[in-house]
Amino acid sequence: MSTNPNWHERAAKIAPESRAFIDGEYVAALSGAQFDNVNPATGQVFGRIAAGDAADIERAVAAAKAAFEKGVWARTRPAHRKKVLGAFAQALLAHREELALLETLDMGKPISDSLKIDIPGAARAIQWYAEAVDKIYDEIAPTGPDALALVTREPVGVVGAIVPWNFPLVMAAWKIGPVLAAGNSLVLKPSEKSPLTAIRVAQLALEAGLPPGVFNVVPGFGHTAGKALALSMDVDAIAFTGSTATGKLVMQYAAQSNMKRVSLECGGKSPNIVLADYPDLERAATAAAYAIFFNQGEMCSAGSRLLVERSARDAVLGKVAEIGRTMSPGDPLDPATKLGAIVDETQMKRVLGYIDTGRSEGATVAFGGRRVREESGGYFVEPTVFDGVTRTMRVAREEIFGPVLATITFDTVEEAVAIANDVDYGLAAAVWTRDVTTAHRTARALRAGMVYVNCYDADDITVPFGGFKQSGIGRDKSLHAFDKYTELKTTWLDLS
Ligand code: NAD
Repeated sequence: MSTNPNWHERAAKIAPESRAFIDGEYVAALSGAQFDNVNPATGQVFGRIAAGDAADIERAVAAAKAAFEKGVWARTRPAHRKKVLGAFAQALLAHREELALLETLDMGKPISDSLKIDIPGAARAIQWYAEAVDKIYDEIAPTGPDALALVTREPVGVVGAIVPWNFPLVMAAWKIGPVLAAGNSLVLKPSEKSPLTAIRVAQLALEAGLPPGVFNVVPGFGHTAGKALALSMDVDAIAFTGSTATGKLVMQYAAQSNMKRVSLECGGKSPNIVLADYPDLERAATAAAYAIFFNQGEMCSAGSRLLVERSARDAVLGKVAEIGRTMSPGDPLDPATKLGAIVDETQMKRVLGYIDTGRSEGATVAFGGRRVREESGGYFVEPTVFDGVTRTMRVAREEIFGPVLATITFDTVEEAVAIANDVDYGLAAAVWTRDVTTAHRTARALRAGMVYVNCYDADDITVPFGGFKQSGIGRDKSLHAFDKYTELKTTWLDLS
């Protein structure tokens, strides 16, 4: 592995695989159709991807189902699955630079983040589930002496996973790990905006010893390939990460077809509450800045609403602005870049549209607010902070999914909690205070799947991730993820 690669040189030479991976081999879409893969940092097309549709999904699901029914993976010993998945995780690390480059070219995030956060994070998720799989025991129910009732977990069968573009491989790995560890077969539909790493790692999984047909990847659009996967009569569970609007469609598709299980990891508009008693407001403000600017703000759990107590407002906003100015967008392939390109032109226009909306609603742009680096042909937006936001404004209620922070000032903790909970979402939330009672009371009152106290976005594969309300149903990560991909079976033996 090289230690100081010239990323531009490598990018110029890379020829990524662009076909679907079905039943252990790369195949073109049956229709022969392809779509453009655009580098968001330049606006240039750098590849054409197989546009899988319903026919390709059908083929992939058939392969997954056949593999499941043959038991080539589902009926292997947990120790074997551990070994194969462990080898797969190691392969991700061995190909870290290649995968990081694909991720950055595909969706515009800084190469340093792809290299240090995304690819190792994906490998860690797979490794963790590999290690978990032979340490989970089933149950014997306390029925009394005349019966033996076993409560066992079995794989659900064929799982369809549909994932977004913001952390393409990490979001996929949060599904791949528990789905495969539990013995299921998988058909993965990556986002049309970022399919490259998913396509590549399917081959690495095969090389690590996963039998053909167990892990299939079909790139394509949501309204064709994604919809077909969610409508398939042979898919037993669908694991979706993406927007709330699409999540609702996926639930409908499940209802229209075979009542498959649906788990949803959807959007957020997460509040980050800073109380004036917190002794290190600079630290809180620094975390607040990273909570919204990291990954260009394209984070489901982004701290996109800064709720700050009135007396701390100037100090906190001043520091957030100082950090925002140091994070002006740069070339994603430059290792020094902290903030890259927005994933595509549509998303950039959406973000800029929200900045216009905030202005017209009466909020003030404290700093940022513009498209930059336009001469590159890429899609870059400055870190942007709105001040004077009120809870009814659209910029305070709707997910922007870009580096745009809405600042709301409050006077009491009760008011802060009421504002925090007054949105359709409930993914993450944070509170900064030195008072342990206030911390606990506020954490309990916040309607969110993850509540951070005196930190933001602290993360580990050991803890569940997911949301209340319209942020979703079910949890990724931790042992709880197995609930989504296993059926419980009761086997009752009469001993009387
Ligand atoms: P999106 O809903 O547009 O797309 C997500 C995936 O769904 C893509 O693969 C897309 O092709 C597919 N899709 C689109 N229409 C479909 C349809 N009709 N049927 C089936 N599949 C369809 O979301 P996005 O823009 O890719 O991602 C951003 C969203 O994802 C944000 O709302 C963000 O909050 C959310 N997200 C949530 C989490 C979480 O863990 N809660 C994590 C990351 C991103």
